[in-house]
Amino acid sequence: MSKKHNFSAGPCVLPDEVFEKSASAVREFNGTGLSLIEISHRSPEFVEVMERARSLVRTLLNVPQTHEVLFLQGGASLGFYMSALNFMKNEGGVGGYVDTGTWSTKAIKEAEKIGKVKMVASSKDDDFRYIPKDFDVPTDVDYLHITTNNTIRGTQFKSIPESKPPLLADMSSDIFSKSIDVSKFDLIYAGAQKNMGPAGTTLYIVNREKLGKTGRDLPSMLDLAVHIDKDSMYNTPPVFAVYVSMLNLEWLEKIGGVAEIQKKNAAKAELLYGEIDRNELFEGATAVEDRSTMNATFRLKDEDTHAERFDKMWKAAGINGIKGHRSVGGYRASMYNALTKESVQVLVDAMRELEKKA
Ligand code: PMP
Repeated sequence: MSKKHNFSAGPCVLPDEVFEKSASAVREFNGTGLSLIEISHRSPEFVEVMERARSLVRTLLNVPQTHEVLFLQGGASLGFYMSALNFMKNEGGVGGYVDTGTWSTKAIKEAEKIGKVKMVASSKDDDFRYIPKDFDVPTDVDYLHITTNNTIRGTQFKSIPESKPPLLADMSSDIFSKSIDVSKFDLIYAGAQKNMGPAGTTLYIVNREKLGKTGRDLPSMLDLAVHIDKDSMYNTPPVFAVYVSMLNLEWLEKIGGVAEIQKKNAAKAELLYGEIDRNELFEGATAVEDRSTMNATFRLKDEDTHAERFDKMWKAAGINGIKGHRSVGGYRASMYNALTKESVQVLVDAMRELEKKA
């Protein structure tokens, strides 16, 4: 069976060699006579995997020495809560938030369970179709939280706001897609299942010195300092997810790292957005200047006339996963690192074909 062009928003496409190597490690891992998922997480073989994965993150993102790298569990959804818990003061705590849609809205909801939230900026007034800009960050908040890429709406911060209070970011859907200055952030968290690996592990990059200042007694599993202290092995880590992430980061390093993938991602986005703008039948769903390079959202101008035919066409072309999120409709093509430009071309060809037949 031939593989599909997978535009899913996550879990999503990973490089073929990553699938092959991980399948082989599940059968037998590195000549140990054991499967990757039956060896002890304390064995030297797995400790090496964890250390290599952490060190690849450091190299690929140029993580400064002040920051620690952790592979934890719970998804980015636990990150919403944990980020607030580890940075918001126990007494009179206030978290500053920029609301750019679903995921940041959820992060806000979790923070409200812990303390107060100050809405620093929001694009709710236009149904989250843009990224707020030129807002002032108050100095009386414990931190500022942003979601760098809104996976559902297809909007992305093109420049990172300057913030005196610690800057925390959910980077689930654009981490490793482009160069970032990690030193600007005190906490970055990201579910693995887009540009890093399979679901099951969540990456945390945290400025060690900013922890332990909340005056709160944290549950061990939710305390980033505990995980740092135990080298990301406080409890049994998600061994398979960490291993596949390691393989995927090795692949990224081999093809030239984040700078190289950034160019490739820009070329893919240019190709697809170019067609969305050129093709009379389609229109983009967000503000042009805030378009995400990872998740392109668009729709047919006249769904009643064309949707049925277009849906048949892209399915016949072997495309998977371009239906928009259930909350917004339309189409969403996610172009994560491992999606090839050839796959984007197949989608563009289907859009052109529809135009010809219309
Ligand atoms: N934040 C963002 C930006 C996301 O895209 C997602 C999932 N798509 C989440 C958070 C939630 O992640 P998880 O399912 O890993 O909890």
